[in-house]
Parts: sequence; structure tokens; C-alpha cells
Amino acid sequence: MTTTQRLLLVEDEPTLRELLSASLQLAGFQVVPAETGAQALGAVREQHPDLIVLDVMLPDMDGFEVARLLREAHPGPGSGHPPILFLTARDAAEDRISGLRAGGDDYVTKPFNLEELVLRIQAVLRRTSGRQPDRRMVVDDLEMDVDSHQVLRGGRPVQLSPTEFSLLRVLMENAGQVLSRDQLLDRVWHYDFDGDDSIVASYISYLRRKIDTYEPKLIHTVRGTGYVLRRPRP
Ligand code: CA
Repeated sequence: MTTTQRLLLVEDEPTLRELLSASLQLAGFQVVPAETGAQALGAVREQHPDLIVLDVMLPDMDGFEVARLLREAHPGPGSGHPPILFLTARDAAEDRISGLRAGGDDYVTKPFNLEELVLRIQAVLRRTSGRQPDRRMVVDDLEMDVDSHQVLRGGRPVQLSPTEFSLLRVLMENAGQVLSRDQLLDRVWHYDFDGDDSIVASYISYLRRKIDTYEPKLIHTVRGTGYVLRRPRP
């Protein structure tokens, strides 16, 4: 059973707010809009959102200040405030945003693609949700148990390195959706990898040698775009 998840969308620019609101509703979320930091704080108290999409540049206070006030109002881990996905400009200070992931929060930089925003929201909700719906994933005859770190293909165990496991986990969590090299770098290497993105192609090939030596192939290259893990089409 799934319940509709409620997002608080804090964005002062009307056009962007309306566009995001419509897109997020289309993606299946309930959306509570807010235009200022003060409105956002009130809406958290009254509407209990599951996640906050929070623009950093707001007219009355910045998004980081909103987050600080929420932390003060909801101290302690576990029962804290809802996770926050910040919308930042590309030139936002790295040191301010680098610590976000530790708290279960995340950020996307403007301009962003709507599909990516939805994927990030879903990923943060999964990470922070107590229900943990994706601990065991199955795609065709490929199975992953996240807790025991066990991967089976056609019932046979597959030994993966930690990075290979993380990459496969992200692909399986997003099965059927094409992920770009940048998205994979971001989610598997978490921005702390400084080199070029050919590392993604290398790890995709390691993974193929381990899980796709059998038919049907599950990892597909989408030329010029990225990679997708999906069941073979009949
Ligand atoms: Ca703004």
C-alpha cells in the first residue's frame, strides 16, 4: 500500500513555482506551495510534509536559515524535521552544501531537469523513510538484498566490490529509467570523485562482466544519454 507523499514546495518565483507544482503533482505527489521562509516554517508546523523542496534564495531569509530554524524547532535525530532538497544556484558556496547529505538532505543546482528533480526527491524519501521499501529488489532474474549485500543472478551468487554494488543498487532502484553519467557519478561517487566520467563506463563494464554474462542482458547503453537497467523487451 502506498500513501501519497506530501511535498512542501518553497519557491518565490511564481512561474517556476507553478511549473514545479504541476510537474510534481503529475509525478504523484501532493504539493503544498509556499513563497517565503516564514510561510515555509508555518506550513511545516501545519501540514507535516514528508519532504521540503526549498529554494535557497528567498525574499525574507535564505533556505539555509529556514533549515537552521527547523533544526532548532525539531531537535534530535529520528523525530527531526522533514528532509530538505535545496534548490541552489550553480555558484552556491560548496562548503555550505557539502554537508547536506550527512543529514539525509540533498540539493539540485538550477537550472535542473524536472525528471532529475523527481528522481532526487524519491531517492531522499527512500533514504530517510522508516519504511525502507526497497531493501530487496528484483529485476528479471537479478536479485539484490541491500541489508545482506547479496546479489543473485539466475539464483547464482555474484560477488561485487563495494563500488560495483553501489552502482548496481542505483541502477536497480531506478530500473527502467535512463541515468546519465553525471547522475551516476553523483549518486554512486557522491561528487567526491574529481576525475573524468569515464570511470562510470569502466564500472558499467565491470558490472556487465559479472551480471550480464548470462542472457538476457539487463544493463543497456543508451547512446549519448547514459545507462538503464531493465527487463528485456519481449
Ligand atoms: Ca528564489
